[in-house]
Amino acid sequence: MRTLDDLFGTGVAGRQVLVRADLNVPIEDGAIGDDGRIRASLPSLNRLRAHGARLLVAAHLGRPDGRDPAMSLAPVAQRLGELLGTEVPISDAPPGGDGEVAMLENIRFDPRETSKDDAERDALASELAALVGPDGAFVSDGFGVVHRKQASVYDIAHKLPAYAGDLIVKEIKVLRKLADPVVLEPPYTVLLGGSKVSDKMGVIEALLPKVDALLVGGGMCFTFIAALGFEVGDSLLEPDYIEACERFMETDKVLFPTDVVIAKDVSPDAETQIVAVESIPDGYKGLDIGPETISGFAEVLEFSRTVFWNGPMGVFELPPFAAGTEAVAQAVAKVGISVVGGGDSAAAIRQLGLDESAYTHISTGGGASLEYLEGKELPGLAVLEDE
Ligand code: ADP
Ligand code: MG
Repeated sequence: MRTLDDLFGTGVAGRQVLVRADLNVPIEDGAIGDDGRIRASLPSLNRLRAHGARLLVAAHLGRPDGRDPAMSLAPVAQRLGELLGTEVPISDAPPGGDGEVAMLENIRFDPRETSKDDAERDALASELAALVGPDGAFVSDGFGVVHRKQASVYDIAHKLPAYAGDLIVKEIKVLRKLADPVVLEPPYTVLLGGSKVSDKMGVIEALLPKVDALLVGGGMCFTFIAALGFEVGDSLLEPDYIEACERFMETDKVLFPTDVVIAKDVSPDAETQIVAVESIPDGYKGLDIGPETISGFAEVLEFSRTVFWNGPMGVFELPPFAAGTEAVAQAVAKVGISVVGGGDSAAAIRQLGLDESAYTHISTGGGASLEYLEGKELPGLAVLEDE
């Protein structure tokens, strides 16, 4: 893969460079919540600016259906500008001065960006390439989107000399350590949570042979608990995956909660109870792991040298259900090699006010990191390796 250093080797001062970044941050009423992804994009942008490149940043926000002012990147451009210490206008053209930065409006306003039709995406990619002209270059730095075959991620790399940015290089370096038994440092624990077990099937399948322990919490644990033959009340459940969970549990590596925090509804002032997993009453939802589970999981983590954590242990967004996620986040931070993947897990660390620097790496890409660990080919990376 060619990197920024290769690009700098060709001389980049005064050249127009299209940078695909992943700046898909949570925005509510025009205010940015967690700006982790914007900050993660700074190293490449700063290095390119220092070399005198003229940057046109392409990024998306959400999944708009056509042009939707509520999904404008304007607040993101504003925050990026604050962090870079320079103005970042929304524009269809690269900036006029060396080291300056402009940003295209939400690239997904154009339906061709995510089209399944190769010709449509190709046409958009040609238009994007034309924006930076024949002397232009493309830097792919949006790790969170490299698993997508999209115009500004994949097709564009066929139109311009393409380079991997610093964030992508960093992400891959760390994730490789979790997938390759040769460099992996055991004992290796994978901690999974989040809402859907169906999202995590592939990664469980791929990692189970490599791990020493797989800890399962979050909404997904209820499909495992159902596989044990227990009632789960109104908890999240994906009946189609019960069989697969049964199969995973045939190995003695899979550990799941023994107790959970339940409530009738998901609300910030819900009345909660702690019950054993075999006695979740009708009409209740399991919304966090319980204290006994927390200490069990913490003990396993204490003996681990490498941990990959994806997915919160409960509905951490609400205080009554945040204790499990907070406790495991603290236990994960103490592991020698601690890697966190998943947008919500990373957001949890920040929301709970934990020290981000205590982790070896917090990935900016949930889906992308999972697909990488599954051993799938990621189109946005493969295309950078071509030629
Ligand atoms: P990530 O983005 O880290 O990969 P996911 O997107 O898979 O994580 O899941 C995050 C969501 O899972 C959070 O919004 C959280 O509220 C939800 N969640 C966690 N535990 C539960 C639970 N027991 N019931 C319902 N939702 C849950
Ligand atoms: Mg998520």
